[in-house]
Amino acid sequence: MVDNKHRRKPRRTPKKEAHGRNTSLSNFVNPEEDYASEKKSYESGAIDFADGSVFCPKCGRQDEVIERGVRKTKFRGDIQRYGCKRCRIRFLNEPFAHTWFPDWVYERVLEDAVNGLKDSQIAKNVNSEAIRRKENVKISSKTVINIKERAVEILWEFELRAPRKEKAAVWQIDDTPQPYSKKNEIDQKTRNDSADSKKEEWRFAWITNVLEEDDRYCLAQVTSEDRIATNSESAIRLALLRAKYGPQLVKCDGYKGHVKGVKAVLKHVEVDSRTKKEDYGHINRIERYHQTIRSLALKKRRHFRSIQSLNITAELVRLYYNFMRPHKSLNGMPPAKKAGIEYPYHEGLTWLELIRFAFVFLRKQRNSI
Ligand SMILES: [Zn+2]
Repeated sequence: MVDNKHRRKPRRTPKKEAHGRNTSLSNFVNPEEDYASEKKSYESGAIDFADGSVFCPKCGRQDEVIERGVRKTKFRGDIQRYGCKRCRIRFLNEPFAHTWFPDWVYERVLEDAVNGLKDSQIAKNVNSEAIRRKENVKISSKTVINIKERAVEILWEFELRAPRKEKAAVWQIDDTPQPYSKKNEIDQKTRNDSADSKKEEWRFAWITNVLEEDDRYCLAQVTSEDRIATNSESAIRLALLRAKYGPQLVKCDGYKGHVKGVKAVLKHVEVDSRTKKEDYGHINRIERYHQTIRSLALKKRRHFRSIQSLNITAELVRLYYNFMRPHKSLNGMPPAKKAGIEYPYHEGLTWLELIRFAFVFLRKQRNSI
């Protein structure tokens, strides 16, 4: 039995039981036990996660890590620097390196993005919130994009590496059209110059999803400008990579592209394709998922600068749905919890709690990004 007091400040004291190669997540963090200290450190702006775990990004060990000075930042004050005695490197324990903002900025940006606000609007909201708080923070749309991309990057890697306990025998695949216009902010500024620029160029993107039927975890989401069978194929490939197992059955609607795409990857897996007429509720769970993402950021008549921008927002929504959003039919659990992914879920889990957990997890696994 490890003494808790001792566990929380392990940096200067080498510990035998906490070396970085231990792959069992259960003794990595105990959410109930550490939640109080975690919340405290979060509020005080400290960067350590839960039990104060800091792992060397090179060797993944904890027992050789020492505090080594601070880094001074304009918006966030002093940030603790760490060093590894073994690897002789210096590092920070921060997922958002290069953008040093107070925690609330990241939370606000990601929350607003999931709720469908434009990047420029998000930046405005943050800047006026900073004035209200009397804090010296000012961000641009470009910073908003950087924060969104970095969040997705870390959580993608975590999704890929995190072990899952449950396997779903049945997957559902479906696609949904997403209208978007390429009208950008420059157009808005010159709107009055000519009547023509008021005309928006509307296009359709196709979002193809793969969902685990039992736990409703959305394994993959592929965004494309054309409705082609390779979308379904890429979505299935991505789903296999993240699930780390194959399904026994894949359900889809009457669209032949799905059958072709699934068969291209899973040659021996049965594909059950039925039209709406044949079986109305055949793929109802993935249809519900599409409704949910529409009620969030992917509202109709949304403006996206590009398909990449649409994709990043759609991914944030997917991650939010999988990891953070309590699901009524899963007893208030999010799908990732139901799928047996270990992370410190609790009601009101924040983006930074999730991202920091993922970040420390990856460092421990020596998959630092
Ligand atoms: Zn090291």
